[in-house]
Amino acid sequence: MSTFGEILRQRLVTLLPGELKPREIIALLVPNRHSVLLTQRRSTMIVNRVRLFAFLFAVLTPLWSVIDLMVFPLPLWLGLAACRILVCAAFIWLLLMYQPRGSLLDAYRAVAILFAIPTAFYIVSHTILGHYQLSSLSAAVGAGYAFLPFVLMAGLAIFPLALLENAVMVVILLLAQACAGALSWTVLNWPSFAGALWLLMLIGAVSSLAGMSQLAFMIALVRQAIRDPLTGVFSRGSGEEILKLQWENAQRQNSTLAIAFIDLDHFKSLNDTYGHEAGDRALIEASRILQSALRGSDTLVRWGGEEFLLLMPGTSLSQAATALERVLQTGLGVRPDGSALTASIGLGERRQDAAANYRSLLEQADQRMYRAKAAGRNQLCSGADTRPDPVAA
Ligand code: GH3
Ligand code: MG
Ligand code: MG
Repeated sequence: MSTFGEILRQRLVTLLPGELKPREIIALLVPNRHSVLLTQRRSTMIVNRVRLFAFLFAVLTPLWSVIDLMVFPLPLWLGLAACRILVCAAFIWLLLMYQPRGSLLDAYRAVAILFAIPTAFYIVSHTILGHYQLSSLSAAVGAGYAFLPFVLMAGLAIFPLALLENAVMVVILLLAQACAGALSWTVLNWPSFAGALWLLMLIGAVSSLAGMSQLAFMIALVRQAIRDPLTGVFSRGSGEEILKLQWENAQRQNSTLAIAFIDLDHFKSLNDTYGHEAGDRALIEASRILQSALRGSDTLVRWGGEEFLLLMPGTSLSQAATALERVLQTGLGVRPDGSALTASIGLGERRQDAAANYRSLLEQADQRMYRAKAAGRNQLCSGADTRPDPVAA
């Protein structure tokens, strides 16, 4: 029985998107487990897709009037055409109004508006159509107006959404459809209404799967783009983006933001004596030790060859100094000859150093790292000590 259970478990595990690591699965379910960079890129993508669809709808909605004109009586056509012009204007506004800025709230709002415009059109057009007794061809075109909820539900598939986000959207669309049925502008045919609701649910499930598989690809691609392949910590480009975001955040809330430059000591001699591969192994080990010393909110970046940048939001200079002194005491691993692998660390903090921008804070920490080197390596320079400047001494 247990072997059967094991086989079943193994088979089920292979159903999960292969490109994801096990700890990333949770990001498929809820959006609050996404990293800042994933959130930023996803929001940009969502807003761009909204704009693409706003553009398509802005062109297609008024064009459909030509078909309406061929089959509907003139007063009905005029009413619908007026609606279509308003809808077109709303889509153009949406297209121009939203620029991708990487904010998730912006993205949610853009999606809500994208779905609200056709929903409003659906309600109004149904009300107008309800006043007319249509026959044959015009009835067929009129029935086409009832397909809008299905188009919207299928449209969900183009967004890289987590399960929770999909569920919220599907429930809203189902509720809207149920309300439409309850208000029943046209005489409601219950079996066909229940059938439509059921179909809508199925389309919602398929769209959610499609959206989640897009999200899975996105999570894997973003990880590959933002991580350093050797050590798995953030690469320089993404590290700088995270620093920028955290800087803006800290400034808005006037909170502390400590950053540390960590440069491994005499690393070139390790490479020269024991080879590049031994150097690589030492780098992997050093970054593993650094990461294990971090808090959840800290970010470790490989800034250059044997140089790391550590971002510590909400951390004062003295708190950061305490944590880093502890790292120095335990060491960053051992060299192949058995001696300790050490580092020189320069520390800076936004408020304490009254830094004007993130670049000057970086500069400050970098200079202090060089002072720690000049003072004999294997130490921390935070600028807060009262000892004489080691460079001047
Ligand atoms: P210092 O104590 O002054 O920092 O001396 P150092 O030798 O560490 O400094 P230096 O900047 O002269 O040398 C850095 C060395 O790091 C040069 C290069 O051989 C090594 N390095 C940089 N990137 C990598 C890498 O990806 N893998 C390996 N194995 N070595 C690297
Ligand atoms: Mg070095
Ligand atoms: Mg260096």
